[in-house]
Amino acid sequence: MFSKPSLTTFFLLLSSRAFQLADPEANALRLSPAKTACSDLRIADSGDHSSWATPECIVCPRSAAQVASVLQTITATGAPFAIRSGGHSPNLGWSNIEGGVLIDLSRINEITYNPLSTNVVVGTGNRWGAVYSALEAHGRTAVGGRVSPVGVGGFLLGGGLSHVSNEYGLGCDNVVDYEVVLANGTIVNANTNSHSELYWALKGGTSNFGVITRFTLKTVPMSKIWGGVITYNATQAEAVIDAIYTYQTEHISDLKSAISVQFILGAGVVLVTLMYAQSISSSPVAFAPFDSLPYNFYTTTVDMHKDMYQDILSIATDTSEKIAKYQGAALIFVAQTISPTMTAGSAKTGGNALGLPQNTNMMWVNFAAAWELPADDDAVAKACKYGIQKISRTARAKGLSRDYLFMNDAGEDQDVLGSYGSENRAGLRKVAREVDPEGVFQILETGGFKL
Ligand SMILES: Cc1cc2nc3c(=O)[nH]c(=O)nc-3n(C[C@H](O)[C@H](O)[C@H](O)COP(=O)(O)OP(=O)(O)OC[C@H]3O[C@@H](n4cnc5c(N)ncnc54)[C@H](O)[C@@H]3O)c2cc1C
Repeated sequence: MFSKPSLTTFFLLLSSRAFQLADPEANALRLSPAKTACSDLRIADSGDHSSWATPECIVCPRSAAQVASVLQTITATGAPFAIRSGGHSPNLGWSNIEGGVLIDLSRINEITYNPLSTNVVVGTGNRWGAVYSALEAHGRTAVGGRVSPVGVGGFLLGGGLSHVSNEYGLGCDNVVDYEVVLANGTIVNANTNSHSELYWALKGGTSNFGVITRFTLKTVPMSKIWGGVITYNATQAEAVIDAIYTYQTEHISDLKSAISVQFILGAGVVLVTLMYAQSISSSPVAFAPFDSLPYNFYTTTVDMHKDMYQDILSIATDTSEKIAKYQGAALIFVAQTISPTMTAGSAKTGGNALGLPQNTNMMWVNFAAAWELPADDDAVAKACKYGIQKISRTARAKGLSRDYLFMNDAGEDQDVLGSYGSENRAGLRKVAREVDPEGVFQILETGGFKL
C-alpha cells in the first residue's frame, strides 16, 4: 500500500506543510536529519544497546497541530516512523527507528492542574517525575509510573501499574480524556461522551490508533508517604516469596499498601545506585560506563497460590543460573501483586481493553534481564523466554494460568493484544479500522504491539 519513501520528499513536504499551518508556533517545529544537526535531540535515550538506532530524521512537534502535519506527511510519503514519549521502552523499533522518521514528543510537555475539577492535563512528552513535582504543591498526585524517568505516553497506553494502583486502579483507568491525532491529521478528543469506543481502545491498545498528544488525568490526594527499601540476602529468597504470599492473602486489602519485590538472583550481581548532586538534564559522562547495559522484558500472569509462587522462584533461579555464563548478565524477577480492587475500577470509567480477570488475586510475573555483549542478545532473550513459558506451563497444569499479559512488562515477541481475548481484540481492530482506515499505524509505525 505504501511505497518506499524518499526522505527528501518527506523533508520538503513536511517543511511546506509546517509553514502553511495557521499555528503561531509552526516555525518552531524542529526537523533534522539525525546525523547532522539538532545536537540537543535524543537519538537513543533508554541507555541500553537493545534500543539504539539511528533514524534518518527526527521531528519534534510542539502541538497536536504539528503532529497532524507530520502524520499527513508520513501518510502521503509512506515513510516508516516510530513514536517516542519518554523513550523508556527497551524494544528495538518502538521508540526509535533505524532509517525512518522518529517523532519525538518530548516538547509536548504541558502540565496544567485545574483546582476546580482536580484534573490535570499532561502532555505526552512528560516524564512522571515532572508530573509529580507539579502536583506536589497542590497536595495531589497522579496514578503514574513507579520510577520518575518513565514516560507518560507509553505508560498510560500500556495500562500503567502505579504505587497507588491498589487504591485507585491502573493508570489508564484514571484517564478522563485523550487528545488524539489520527493518521489523516484529524485531531479528536476521546472520552466517555465523544469517540467512546476509541476511548476504550486507548486504555491498553497502545499506538494502534493515532498519536496521543495530551492526557487529562484524575488526580488523587497525596501528602507525606512512608517507605524505604530493605535488602535481604538471596539465601532468604524462599522466605521473601512466602512473605509475598502472606501479604497478598492477609494485607493487600489495606488499600494504602503497595509492594514491589525484585529478586536479583545471579551470583555476583551488584545493585548500583547512581546519584549526582547537581541539577542536570541528562546522564553525566561519569555514569556513561553504566549506560551500555541492555535489558529485555518478559511477562506472564498467574493466580495467587503458595506452591506456585515457590515454583516461580525456582524457575527464576534456574533462568538466572542459565544466563550467568554470559558476560555481565543478571536476571531480575519482579513479583507484582495485583489485587481485585486494582482491576475493579475500570467499569466505572468506561471499561478498558485489557480483558483482565475480575475478583482475582494475581501475580504479574516479570523477568527483566541485563547483560553486556550484543553477541549474547539472542541467547539471553531465549533463556528468559523459556523461563517465562515454563512458568505459564506449570501454572496451566495447576489450573492457575491466566492469558493476560501486562504490556508494560512484555517482550516484543509476546502476543499481548491476543491475551486480551478475541472479543476485545476484535473490538480494538474495529476501532482501528474506523479511525485509521489506511492502516498507517499498522504498517508504517514500527513500535508497539500490532493488531
Ligand atoms: C526502569 C523501568 C521502570 C518501569 N516502571 C513501570 C511501572 O512502574 N509501571 C508500569 O506500568 N510500567 C513501568 N515500566 C514500563 C513502561 O511503562 C513502558 O516501557 C512504557 O512504554 C514507557 O513509557 P514511555 O513514554 O517512556 O515509552 P516510549 O519508549 O516513549 O514509547 C513506547 C511505545 O509506546 C507507544 N507510544 C508512546 N507514546 C505514544 C503516544 N503519545 N501516542 C501513541 N503511541 C505512543 C509507541 O508505540 C512507543 O513505541 C517501566 C520500565 C522501565 C524500563
